[in-house]
This record gives sequence, structure tokens and C-alpha cells, in this order.
Amino acid sequence: MSVLEFRDIHRSYGRGEEVLSGVTFSVEPGQVVGLLGKNGAGKTTLIHIAMGMMRAQEGSVRVLGLDPEKDPVAMKSRVGFVSEDQVLPPAMRVKQVIGLHRDLYPTWDAELEARLRERFSFSDRARVKSLSKGEARQVALLCAVAHRPELLILDEPAGGLDPAARREFLETSIDLLSEGGTSILFSSHHMTDVERMADRIVLLHDRSVLIDAALDTLRESYTVAVMPVNAGIDPGAVAASASCLRIRERQGTLRAVFKGDAEEPRALLERELAVRNASVAQVPLEELFVELLGGTS
Ligand code: ATP
Repeated sequence: MSVLEFRDIHRSYGRGEEVLSGVTFSVEPGQVVGLLGKNGAGKTTLIHIAMGMMRAQEGSVRVLGLDPEKDPVAMKSRVGFVSEDQVLPPAMRVKQVIGLHRDLYPTWDAELEARLRERFSFSDRARVKSLSKGEARQVALLCAVAHRPELLILDEPAGGLDPAARREFLETSIDLLSEGGTSILFSSHHMTDVERMADRIVLLHDRSVLIDAALDTLRESYTVAVMPVNAGIDPGAVAASASCLRIRERQGTLRAVFKGDAEEPRALLERELAVRNASVAQVPLEELFVELLGGTS
């Protein structure tokens, strides 16, 4: 059974257009899935649907086999959740916040709590409102994981943190999952975070899933061709190729993303389109996503 399953999710706000339109993917036991997409792609909306904080207008979601709307308490007792905009009660002391969570969860692991406290920098006696962003996120992570959830959902968990705090946060999450086999779904804009943590990525674009692939096969699965813009190349002819996902003009060059290794696009460009001065290569993931999702400037 999948740990998390979205099936044909549709969601719009008010009378607006759908922001999610037929989103289907799942997270399998022990997997770490990075949820990617530009600002406004619908990552938070999807995560809120999984957490039962919002309803899909069509489709279904199952979290550990449960319907988050019908069984919110059972579901939340087995899931950990941290989001960028999570608000902890500002006037409470850290000790009280952690105590509340400890009391709430029968599966609370005091030894894990102690280890995290040792690792983290916050003071037990500090009030939440006096914590730095990084410290507040550490408290939230501790509260989300010390009950040893089967699934951890992180919505842009390292957003707003400086590079050192981000690394610390993510490394802690990695340690936790490697020892406990917890499944993780996390959204992020930082490709380096995703590359460090995820087994698989799901990329939301144009209201649905554009890419759902294992990270280690992803780099070999796409190539980018860069061609001079004034060499008589017809972008339409390149785009008509079945393996071409996108072509655009950028910085005085034509750039096309192809599915597959370099062989096919190279042959296609040279033989069928007589384009000889193209460079065709695999590119780092960050660049691949800029090519797939970026604008034309
Ligand atoms: P970001 O990376 O910027 O956090 P996201 O991928 O998480 O973005 P969402 O926050 O899910 O995207 O937003 C998806 C779309 O839905 C956006 O166009 C946003 O403006 C719209 N939206 C989100 N919440 C609401 C709301 N409460 N009312 C109206 N529109 C909303």
C-alpha cells in the first residue's frame, strides 16, 4: 500500500481557474519525494489537501490508507507536518510547546527528543516569539518527528533559513529518515536540497505532474540542445519532434529540452534538420528545470 496517494486531484479557488487539474502520484514506503514547481504551481495546495486542511473538488487522497477528511485524528497521529508559515503559540515557552506535543502523542520517543535537543540550539526557557526563524523551525521539526511518524510532510521546510541553518535542518531530517524508514514528501525551490535528500522528484507544472522520476535516472533522461538563434533553424520543426519537450529563445540562443540521451536529438538535429552547430548535452538538474520552466529572458 502506498503511504500517500493522490488520484486525479482537481482544485480551484473561488471562481478562478483550476490550480490543480488531474494530479496523480503516490509516495511509497521509505521513499523521499521532492515536490517541485515554480511559485504558484500548487505545491502548498496539494499538501493542504493531504493534511485534510483543504478539500479537493474532484479526485481522492489517501494518507496511510486513510481519508484525511473523514479520519483526521487517526491520520494526524501518524503523520508529521512542518511548513514555512507554521505559527507556534508566540507567548508560550519552548518547553511548554514541546510538552504539549509530548502529551498528545502516545508514540512520543523521549530518547529522540533528547538527541534533537542536544543537536539544536534553542533554549528550553525561551518564548516562541523570541526565537529566530531557524530556531523556531527546529522546534517545529522536533515536534513533528519525535512521535516517530510514518510519513513526514514538509512544505518548503527550509524556506527563509540561511544556508547553514538550512543544511542543519535538512541533515537532521535525513538522519531521522535513514534510521527510521520514515517516508517523506517535501516541497522546495532549492534544487540542491532536493538533490541531497530525494529519491524521487515530482514536478508540478501547468496544473499537473510534468515529471515523476527517480532522481538517479533523471539526469540521464533529458538533454538540452543549444543552437545559434540566427542560423536559419525553424523552432517549430524542432518542437515537432516527439522527444522535444520545450524550445525557447534565451540569451541569443535557441534552447531545446529533449527526453532521452544525447544520441537521438543529435541525430535528429544533424540529419533531419541539418543543424550542425548545436551543442547537445546532459545538464545539471538545476539547469534542466530552468530550461523546462523558465521564462524567455
Ligand atoms: P509557492 O512556491 O509560491 O509557495 P505553491 O506551488 O505552493 O507556491 P500554492 O500556494 O498552492 O502554490 O498556490 C497555487 C495557486 O493558487 C496560486 O496561483 C495562488 O495564487 C492560488 N491560491 C492559493 N491559495 C489561494 C487562496 N486562498 N485564494 C485564492 N487563490 C489562492
